[in-house]
Amino acid sequence: MANNPNQHQVKAKKHLGQHFLNDESVAQQIADTLTLKNYKNILEIGPGMGVLTKYLLKKDITTYVIEIDTESVEYLQANYLNLAPRIIEKDFLKFDLNEVFKQEPFAIIGNFPYNISTQIVFKTLEMRDQIPEFSGMFQKEVAQRICSKEGSKVYGILSVLVQAFYDAEYLFTVPPNVFNPPPKVESGVLRLTRKEGFTLPCDEKLFFKVVKTAFQQRRKTIRNSLKTLNLSDSLREDSIFGKRPEQLSVQQFIELTTLIENDA
Ligand code: SAH
Repeated sequence: MANNPNQHQVKAKKHLGQHFLNDESVAQQIADTLTLKNYKNILEIGPGMGVLTKYLLKKDITTYVIEIDTESVEYLQANYLNLAPRIIEKDFLKFDLNEVFKQEPFAIIGNFPYNISTQIVFKTLEMRDQIPEFSGMFQKEVAQRICSKEGSKVYGILSVLVQAFYDAEYLFTVPPNVFNPPPKVESGVLRLTRKEGFTLPCDEKLFFKVVKTAFQQRRKTIRNSLKTLNLSDSLREDSIFGKRPEQLSVQQFIELTTLIENDA
């Protein structure tokens, strides 16, 4: 519970993707998705009024929060006095996290603002050397996409790029009615665990480009979609080029990139 029950509640702002969770047991369940292994710091993105934060603060680990909304920051400062020095009032997407974490590892958690969920995932991938674990809540469809395997209808760019570096688990679904205001869609909680000792055996930029280009036209064969890459005829004959992107596993996308990289 907040320390000062007289403090005004934060008014939900749509443009910041604010849907405040008002179910304590769901908040606790989300906080408990972190294993707390291999890091000493947690960063919560978008704490709002701190419903999740208060369960994180009970754990034997250092919790930082990053929040763009001044009104929410003021609420947190008034109600979570111990947290005050570790409240970062910034845009997660723009802030250089190494100003706080230097090169130290940290885990990410949150009931994320859904309007920037994809960008949150991309920034995490860029910083993956420092992020051994990531968990939290997205729109259900996004959470499912991140965790889905080849052959699934929702398998796409996010699935391949995330699962190249992380093991992805879809944990549970959360209905709209536990939020204020309720979102139009269901939500899904997932956990990403970094694959330790893994390095991409091919060029990373090319891998991202191949995956993104292939999925731009998910009904077409890889041969068709990757025309713009000017590949040799002999390479384009390889059977992998006859497949559609949703048929290729993460490993096959890595193999495909390696073939393209070595194409003379
Ligand atoms: N965790 C809270 C709030 C979830 S709503 C709860 O579960 O109730 C999403 C939160 O993300 C809001 O507090 C919003 O202000 C914040 N937010 C939105 N965009 C952000 C950004 N770019 N950087 C940091 N926080 C952001």
